[in-house]
Amino acid sequence: MQSHPDKPRTYKTEGVVIRHSSSGEDDRVLAIYTIDYGTIHVVGRSLRRAKSKLAGHLEPLSHVAIQLIRGKGIDIVTGADTLHGHTSLRNSLEGIARGLVCVEMVEAFAPEEHPNPELYQLLLDTLEQLNGGEADRLLWYFAFHVLRVTGYMPELQQCVVCSNAIQPDEHMFSPGLGGVVCTDCARDGDPAGPHERAGAPLLSLSLNSLKVMRFFRDNSYDAVRGLNVGSELAGELQRVLGGYIHYLLEREVRSSTFLAGLSRGP
Ligand SMILES: [Zn+2]
Repeated sequence: MQSHPDKPRTYKTEGVVIRHSSSGEDDRVLAIYTIDYGTIHVVGRSLRRAKSKLAGHLEPLSHVAIQLIRGKGIDIVTGADTLHGHTSLRNSLEGIARGLVCVEMVEAFAPEEHPNPELYQLLLDTLEQLNGGEADRLLWYFAFHVLRVTGYMPELQQCVVCSNAIQPDEHMFSPGLGGVVCTDCARDGDPAGPHERAGAPLLSLSLNSLKVMRFFRDNSYDAVRGLNVGSELAGELQRVLGGYIHYLLEREVRSSTFLAGLSRGP
C-alpha cells in the first residue's frame, strides 16, 4: 500500500483478513479490510516461520486488531490480536468458501483506502452469523446490502427509463440502468433505447421477484430468514441479481471470483 498521508508513523486499526500471499522467504503480504482505511495491503514479517506469534492471529476471515508501522511503499504489521477468530466458519470448507465470498465481494466493491463503516459493520455481522451456521440465504442478503451501502442499490420503485411509479405487474430489469423497467418502456423496446445503449440486455422480472427484492431491501436478516422462496423464484432472483452484480463487476468495479460462490440462489 502506498503510504497514506494522514497516517502517523505507527498506527492501530482493526479489520478482517481477506487473504495472504507469500512474499520473500518468510514474509506474507496481507490484504485486510479495515474500519479506518478500507482495504489495505500490508506485510507480515516472518509469518511463515513455525514460531511466528503473529501468524495465528492473521488467518483469513479473522477479525483482528492490528498495530502497524509505516514502511517504504508498504506498511508492516508489528502486532495483532484476534477479536473474533470465526473458528466454526474456518473449520469447514463450505464455511471458508462462504466467508471468502463475503470478503472478496467487499474487496471488489470497496475502493482501496476508502473507509466505509457501514460496509465494515455489515461484513462483521455477516461473518458472525455465518460462523453461527447461517448459509446461502445470508450470502444473498449480504450481497444485496453490499450494493446498498456502496451506492449500487437497484431502483425498485420507479421505472429507470420513464420514472413512472412501478405498478404491480410483470416487469423487466435493466442491469445497465440499475433497476426496474416498466411494461410500457419494455414493450416500446426501441433497440436504440437507453436500456440497450447501457449495454446489457433486459432481464425478465416477475412481480414475486420484485416483491422479494423489496423485502430483502426493507427488512433485517431475521425477517428474511423466514421467507419462503421456492426454487423457481430463487433461480430468477439469482439470474437478475447475479446478472446485475456481474454487470457491475465488468463495467464499474474490479473483477472478482466471488460470483461463483453465489450460484445457488437465495
Ligand atoms: Zn417506464
